[in-house]
Amino acid sequence: MRGHAQQGHDHGDEALPGHHHHAHGACAEGATERAERLCRDRGLQFTPLRRDVLGVVAAEGRPMGAYDIAERMSGRGRRVAAVSVYRALDFLTEQGLVHRISSRNAFVSCGHDHGEGAGLVFLICRTCGGIDEMTAPAVESALDRTLASAGFTPTSRILEVEGECGACRGRGAPEGPDPG
Ligand SMILES: [Zn+2]
Ligand SMILES: [Zn+2]
Repeated sequence: MRGHAQQGHDHGDEALPGHHHHAHGACAEGATERAERLCRDRGLQFTPLRRDVLGVVAAEGRPMGAYDIAERMSGRGRRVAAVSVYRALDFLTEQGLVHRISSRNAFVSCGHDHGEGAGLVFLICRTCGGIDEMTAPAVESALDRTLASAGFTPTSRILEVEGECGACRGRGAPEGPDPG
């Protein structure tokens, strides 16, 4: 199976429906603001630890493991235990503020307002380690039909696809138009 979707064009990624790009770093503040609002609406506590964990993950823009997050937070004269980070990540994942990337045992922040249980596709670049989150209704409905015919009820429908992102492919490609 080919890793890449059938997209013949490298240009105009932004025009693809359902395609969102995570800006590195820029969305950390927006992510914590949004989380604060969401927790207030749901009557949940957005503790300083939860805020810091989300801030670190959102600023990274790449999947991050709990130990890396703990290390990043421990820098400035404090020691944060990985177990505390895991607890905060559990909370953030439950609220849909971060997603767990199973294949990496790592976490990314989510800046989208897709509903709970939405089918998601994560595009994980092996070259730069970047990750893109997409909602793919066509994949979702096809998967739902397949699961229904098997009598299977999913608790999550998160697909992880590894490969090479457009930016990395562009950098590695020889000059001139691709004849393919
Ligand atoms: Zn998401
Ligand atoms: Zn890449």
